[in-house]
Amino acid sequence: MTPKIITRFPPSPTGPLHIGNVRTALFNYLFAKQNGGDFIVRIEDTDKARSKKEYENEMLENLKWLGLKRYGELLHQSERIDIYKKYLQKLINENKAYISTETEGENREVVRFCNPNKSVKFEDLIRGVVEFDTTELKDFVIAKSIDEPLYHFVVVVDDFESDVTHVIRGEDHISNTPRQILIQEAIGASRPIYAHLPLILAQDRSKLSKRKHGESVSLNYYRNKGYSSGAIINYLALLGWNPGTEQEIFTLDELINVFDLTRVHKGGAIFDEKKLAWVNRKHFNIGKTRNQ
Ligand code: GLU
Repeated sequence: MTPKIITRFPPSPTGPLHIGNVRTALFNYLFAKQNGGDFIVRIEDTDKARSKKEYENEMLENLKWLGLKRYGELLHQSERIDIYKKYLQKLINENKAYISTETEGENREVVRFCNPNKSVKFEDLIRGVVEFDTTELKDFVIAKSIDEPLYHFVVVVDDFESDVTHVIRGEDHISNTPRQILIQEAIGASRPIYAHLPLILAQDRSKLSKRKHGESVSLNYYRNKGYSSGAIINYLALLGWNPGTEQEIFTLDELINVFDLTRVHKGGAIFDEKKLAWVNRKHFNIGKTRNQ
């Protein structure tokens, strides 16, 4: 029996929800729903200094507004430190990780991963076969201390414990994947299927970034301008994907039927607000016809 498909959206609540993250959430949602699977959400709040409850609440409210309903309970990494510690301790006991005393101003006892120094190969649903030589990563740090695990480690533990089958995320994470695969192998976790989505680019083809493009990278910006959730969902679905037909206007339910992850392109997708405005007008008309 093939396992139930489980996708995940794990935002870090360190700022307003980025439009690129909304598309990531959407593609995870569509893929899970069209396969009768579950879409789960967890909050990656191990960075105590940068994580804020108000951003988390706002993100959850935004997901609700968009209609991307999560399955099951909401996990918080900050509440799972004991679980990570258990896995870290196990790796240390098995000589797959070790505590290293490092002096950086003060002495710190970090946990380093024993890198087997090999080539890691995985099949990405969008990018095809990807291969990395992990030697240059050396014995990378997986926890700042036994109680402060870092991103690569916690992601692997959480995806494993939640039985995640597909990791669909932005291409900016592709270089993280080899480290995460090494950690999976060390803790005995199965490997999920990966799909790295093309970045969303600004009109000048540069990466859509807060520093360069300000508020226009956040969902709130478009929401405050009055774009409907249906139009935003529809427009984002077309960034990096197309149905292969002339149809461009879809509701969320229609997208669940037609979306095809394997048709997502490799190249960056340019964000065009004019097109969003056009999609918004079309949705406004759908609303009018349906309310008559
Ligand atoms: N917390 C990460 C982010 O917001 C997600 C990492 C992942 O998908 O593995 O970019």
